[in-house]
Parts: sequence; C-alpha cells; structure tokens
Amino acid sequence: MSEQTSQVAETARRSVALGLNQGTSGNVSARAPEGFLITPSGRDMTAIDAAEIVPLDMNGAAPAGLKPSSEWRFHRDIYAAFPEARAVVHAHSPFAVALACLRRDIPPFHYMVAMAGGTDIRCASYATFGTQALSDVVITSLQNRSACLMANHGLLAWGRSLHGALALALEVEALCGQYLRACQVGEPVLLSAAEMAEVLEKFKDYGARD
Ligand code: 13P
Ligand code: ZN
Repeated sequence: MSEQTSQVAETARRSVALGLNQGTSGNVSARAPEGFLITPSGRDMTAIDAAEIVPLDMNGAAPAGLKPSSEWRFHRDIYAAFPEARAVVHAHSPFAVALACLRRDIPPFHYMVAMAGGTDIRCASYATFGTQALSDVVITSLQNRSACLMANHGLLAWGRSLHGALALALEVEALCGQYLRACQVGEPVLLSAAEMAEVLEKFKDYGARD
C-alpha cells in the first residue's frame, strides 16, 4: 500500500472530522502516475481504510472487485483539464449545500473568495450525481478557478496536494457560511473588480501554494 493511498483514506476521514462530510457523502482523490486513486463508492466516510482506495486509469477502469466513487468522472476530468491539480475533495457541507440549493455563485463579498483563483466562486448547473453531464458542468464552472459549488449538491475543490484541496474545501465552506449570514441581515457590500485584482496579485505569493 503506497503512502499516497493512506493519505487519500486519511483525507476522506478528516473531511468528516472537519464537518465537511457525513455518512457516505463526498469523495476524495489524488493523482497517481497512471491515473488517480479515489475513495470507494457508498462507504461510510469515517471508516474508509487504505485497502479500499481504488486505483483508476484515465478511462475509469478499476481492478476487479473494487467499486470507485460514483463521481470518478469529474475527478478524472479535473486531472485531464488542469495539469496542476494533484488532489480533489468533494463535500456535502452544510453551508455550501444551502447556497448551492439557492443556485447562487459566491460573489466577491470577502477578499478570501480570491483563494479559488478569481473574483467569484461559481455554482455549476444541476446534473444528476455520478454522470458525465455533472462532470461537464463542473469543468465549465472551474475555468480559471480551483473550486466551485454544485447546484442542489455541494462543493468541490482541487489543489496541488491533498492538504491543499482539503484546506480550500474548508475555506469555501467557511465563505458560504459567512455569505449566508451576511445575506440574512442585508445585502453584503461587494468588493470592486479593482479591489479583487489587487488581492489576486497579493495572493500570488501569499501562504503555501498547495
Ligand atoms: P460516492 O459514495 O459514490 O463517492 O458518492 C458520494 C457522493 O457524494 C456523490 O456525489
Ligand atoms: Zn456528492
């Protein structure tokens, strides 16, 4: 069992401990030399063990007897579309789901929105879980971004490492909570394009880029 396999399982378990997932919701993957390693389908995320992690090639072919996450298509398509992506975390976290059910993009209400690479974080159109149609709308919403919401579903984030993808997923969930609370009281004041451009410039050398 490779160290990376253990790290995928550990990240899946941590996503529950951090409040991002519950039950069988969500999935995690990491790029591997021949494709990627992904969590199994329909398993309790708190109990995922390294032995259950499924190695997939870029066609989605798995070793006999192993059942990869139903969402392997968008994980595969993210690795194909974004060469820098080395890990993907998908979650049904409470505030992201709430905002995704309103089918609202996250606007530049807070400068940390720029952590996902742009001036907003888009909400992808609705498509049934586990379909190529869902992967297609997700890839569209991820153009020049490393995170998006998924209508009536949740969020996803990719990173240069498992730690980075998990940290971004956590940040997006925090932003969704902050934005929803602000909306409950009034209309949040949005940052201008110039203000966000300045933040995006500063983020080029802010923190660990993982
Ligand atoms: P899997 O258990 O097949 O990974 O599905 C969970 C999920 O979140 C589907 O969108
Ligand atoms: Zn899901």
